[in-house]
Amino acid sequence: MENIVEHKKIIGVPEPTLRRMPMYLSYLKAIEATGIRQISAPHIAADLNFDPTQVTKDLAYTGIKGKTRIGYEVQTLIKAIEDFMGINKINEVFIVGAGNLGAALVKYEGFKEYGIKVVAAFDINPEVVGKDLNGVPVFHLDKFRDLARRMHVVFGIITVPPSAAQQVADMMVSWGIKAIWNFAPTNIKVPDDIILQHTSIYANLALIINKLQTKYK
Ligand code: ATP
Repeated sequence: MENIVEHKKIIGVPEPTLRRMPMYLSYLKAIEATGIRQISAPHIAADLNFDPTQVTKDLAYTGIKGKTRIGYEVQTLIKAIEDFMGINKINEVFIVGAGNLGAALVKYEGFKEYGIKVVAAFDINPEVVGKDLNGVPVFHLDKFRDLARRMHVVFGIITVPPSAAQQVADMMVSWGIKAIWNFAPTNIKVPDDIILQHTSIYANLALIINKLQTKYK
């Protein structure tokens, strides 16, 4: 249905485009589940509250171009987005800090649809070490290095308290981790070649509370 255009390299894709990709994917999967087979860029744009030109531009990065008046074939587009995001292959991930947040992330089933699977958790608290979180074992942090090497894991999630985050990040880097997703509400420093993303739910919360206070007080 679609014309496959030359697959562009992921390098150079604007960050906002990358950030929107998971939204297109979950939207298209929902659309597919309702039995819709074809969809146009303006339709997608209207449902997601995006600009139609932006949608066309974003989706072109996947190598798929919609047909005039017909649009995109939903199934093909889903596959193209998954390929583009590199999530047809599951990345195995270790998580350090098996407290409430860490355990919730380990148990979260949704990650699989977006290309990651937490395969082991690590902690230093003897009450937590040895637990089983929906089939995912919690090991002592001492085991991280050997397991990462054996399982070729290069992606680590940090869910320890902020006071321990830098130390854990330093260890992860020295143990061969190449990408860190930090959920601790603190800034950590890593060498330039290490991929680092922070996700602080508290940062978003601070915005909500501030807006609530200023708008509705
Ligand atoms: P949260 O809901 O924030 O995950 P929690 O109240 O269960 O937290 P925290 O004190 O935030 O617990 O710690 C999270 C987890 O990190 C705990 O299980 C704790 O044992 C673990 N932890 C703390 N310091 C380290 C460390 N240096 N290395 C590994 N794990 C650690």
